[in-house]
Amino acid sequence: MSEAYDFIVVGAGISGSAAAYQLARQGHKVVVIDRFAPAAMASGWTLAGVRQSGRHPAELPLARAAVELWTTLEEELGAPTHYTRKGNLRLARNEEEYEHIRRMVEEQSADGLDLSFLPDNATLRAMAPALSPAILGASFCPTDGHADPHATVGAFVAAAERAGASFRNHERVTAILVEGGRVMGVATDKDNYSAPRVILAAGLFGCELLGPLGLDVPIDVRMVTVIRSVPVERVLDQVIGVAAGNWAGRQEVNGRFRVTSGGQAWHKRMDINGGERSPRPAVHPPMATLGEVVAEMERLLPGTTAHAVEEVWAGLIDMTPDALPVLDTAPAIEGLVIAMGFSGHGFCLGPITGQILAALALGDETGFDLSAFAATRFNSRPDLPQEAMTLHG
Ligand SMILES: Cc1cc2nc3c(=O)[nH]c(=O)nc-3n(C[C@H](O)[C@H](O)[C@H](O)COP(=O)(O)OP(=O)(O)OC[C@H]3O[C@@H](n4cnc5c(N)ncnc54)[C@H](O)[C@@H]3O)c2cc1C
Repeated sequence: MSEAYDFIVVGAGISGSAAAYQLARQGHKVVVIDRFAPAAMASGWTLAGVRQSGRHPAELPLARAAVELWTTLEEELGAPTHYTRKGNLRLARNEEEYEHIRRMVEEQSADGLDLSFLPDNATLRAMAPALSPAILGASFCPTDGHADPHATVGAFVAAAERAGASFRNHERVTAILVEGGRVMGVATDKDNYSAPRVILAAGLFGCELLGPLGLDVPIDVRMVTVIRSVPVERVLDQVIGVAAGNWAGRQEVNGRFRVTSGGQAWHKRMDINGGERSPRPAVHPPMATLGEVVAEMERLLPGTTAHAVEEVWAGLIDMTPDALPVLDTAPAIEGLVIAMGFSGHGFCLGPITGQILAALALGDETGFDLSAFAATRFNSRPDLPQEAMTLHG
């Protein structure tokens, strides 16, 4: 058994690296182990919208708290996140979407979110002139925005390291070690590590480590296609999505468009080029979906598809049946904390997820009602229908 730690974090995505930062800055001895490297999976594949609008009521308090943290995150971490707060527009392409958005604005405004309804195309295009004259209206949340995912995770990792946390990349956790109902550490493909507390933030692979412990979080993996252009002249400040959740996009601070499809079934292929030493696993998107994403971009942002493509990839999303994450201590296993199933919403939440996971691992109050995120909530409801994916940036 190698060195003993106070906490082991499995996974260096935004959730794990933010949790490690919180624990290390409080003086705890932390190691983060990642099968690939920081932001190798969802936290790098992401659109990286930082959004409160359109959130489930149970998730909204977390998203609002996260947005507060995003405001000063760069100063706190001492490195750029490229966080930009210029709003989120959810576009209505037809009467049905128009009604859906109008109702959402009513409901979420009643919950205290600063969200307005732009009732016609002229009002919308006064704010975002590059959008199509065919769009009927939109919701607008001025306090939503976006950030750079690799920069943000890198900033959490660097701040955690400065506070004393260690990171082990290209090392796969193969088992969470439990004895007499208590966590003892983890086994990896290279070594064993001991710690009384483990935070599991391994994204869609979390189930592989929970299964042998007799725990299960039902996860439906959805695949989303992402296209990134070369840097081009800025025409769009806001993150844009559509009411049906089947297209979203933004222009990064460097001018690149980053646009996504809706979710589709995963073809179950993941290319781990250089084995576990690969910087990140690649999932290749179907050509037909690339065509659909481009066609929708041309409908929403006419003229922008003439730009050159720099990169395409597919990202995988860990959907739970109710599209809410599990943020909880494990039932009947002392010392295990679980963060998974973010269902396409976990990038924005990252900074607050880190605080919540650290508090759960320390046995402190989190300050939030986490009952909607309980690990056991699916046990008595095996036939729960699958909630639709609502990716909106
Ligand atoms: C295309 C796409 C668009 C998205 N758009 C948005 C958006 O606009 N806004 C938003 O808020 N969210 C969005 N999301 C969701 C968001 O990106 C994720 O919810 C979030 O990044 C999850 O972070 P995580 O740290 O929990 O998991 P991940 O980032 O998946 O990190 C898990 C880490 O665990 C490691 N790992 C896995 N298994 C093991 C093991 N056995 N041993 C060691 N390490 C292991 C992996 O290598 C990985 O680095 C999107 C996701 C995708 C794919």
